Amino acid sequence: MSKKILVLPGDYIGPEIMTEAVTVLETVNRRFALDLELELGLLGGAAIDAHGVPLPEETLASARAADAILLGAVGGPKWDNVERHLRPERGLLGLRSALELFGNLRPAILYPQLAAASSLKPEIVSGLDILIVRELTGGIYFGEPRGIRTLDNGERQGFNTYVYSESEIRRIGHLAFQLARQRGHRVCSVDKSNVLEVTVLWREVMEEVGKEYPDVALSHMYVDNAAMQLVRAPKQFDVLVTGNMFGDILSDAAAMLTGSIGMLPSASLDKNGRGMYEPCHGSAPDIAGQGVANPLATILSVAMMLRYTLAAPEAAAAIEAAVSAVLDQGLRTADIHGDGTTLVSTREMGAAVVAALQA
Ligand code: NAD
Repeated sequence: MSKKILVLPGDYIGPEIMTEAVTVLETVNRRFALDLELELGLLGGAAIDAHGVPLPEETLASARAADAILLGAVGGPKWDNVERHLRPERGLLGLRSALELFGNLRPAILYPQLAAASSLKPEIVSGLDILIVRELTGGIYFGEPRGIRTLDNGERQGFNTYVYSESEIRRIGHLAFQLARQRGHRVCSVDKSNVLEVTVLWREVMEEVGKEYPDVALSHMYVDNAAMQLVRAPKQFDVLVTGNMFGDILSDAAAMLTGSIGMLPSASLDKNGRGMYEPCHGSAPDIAGQGVANPLATILSVAMMLRYTLAAPEAAAAIEAAVSAVLDQGLRTADIHGDGTTLVSTREMGAAVVAALQA
């Protein structure tokens, strides 16, 4: 039976990078006989312009019916002045919560060809390949009660609630262990259990889940140490699993290890492995329309989609090998361009990946 992919290009550079990613997807669809059906939809600013809302009913219905969603990026100055609840980002958040995408996967991979782009020494980061698994729908970002109140003495006080239930921890734990089985068989769970009770429970539940995966080694690390280790010796990690807030911060730090945001894909999965795949970067309004955006993060998001939702690991590996091949050829978009390499446009980079796939 054919599988449905909802394609949401989004705003500013979104359509430019998506055109290349779709060409790559169509190439592997034919070459590996994947029987994928692509449908186009509107989200974010593009949806506001067409329908007045960032997440139209039609897009939501298509998303629910799809096996996977491929997203470019949404938002930008054009919609900065619309009401808060109608902002483009609301469309994205609405989609994540409607589909219960609780597991955020952020690989930080540094292709050896790009080691010089990192702010760390090449020997520390060259060949880096870690996967950060962040809980995305719970923790302090969603905990109630929350707000800003005025105390009896007239002073204002801000407050949030850091809460995780056992089932939420168990769910993200299983995802991390299952992913570790497809990689280096090591999970490092990051918490702050020396200070926060919620993460004492987090650690206990991770231990329990870990017993079901005797072939995967589990270790624990306090978040402050994890931040330090990420910049000291990042290659020690395989899979890092953590809560929403710690994951937010650590995944951005890990992203910078790789030098360019234009290279980083991501996935957000539900409990059945259905998911939304998108580059880590935003809609880059400053470079939109110039044909200079790096399409590789979106192309690598296609590879993640094939591996994690569509059970097509050969097709995923073929895309990753094609990306590595074009980097070997010295082709670079402006964000990763340096001495001795060839500057190419968004379109040329996409075409080079397709050519490498067909070679
Ligand atoms: P951004 O990621 O769009 O851009 C940050 C910098 O990185 C810019 O200089 C940009 O030119 C560069 N950059 C980003 N992607 C690139 C690529 N593929 N190739 C080359 N260079 C690239 O972040 P921002 O400027 O803070 O946000 C712009 C808009 O995107 C905002 O409206 C923001 O809300 C939105 N945004 C959307 C998402 C999403 O859709 N998931 C994520 C982050 C930001």
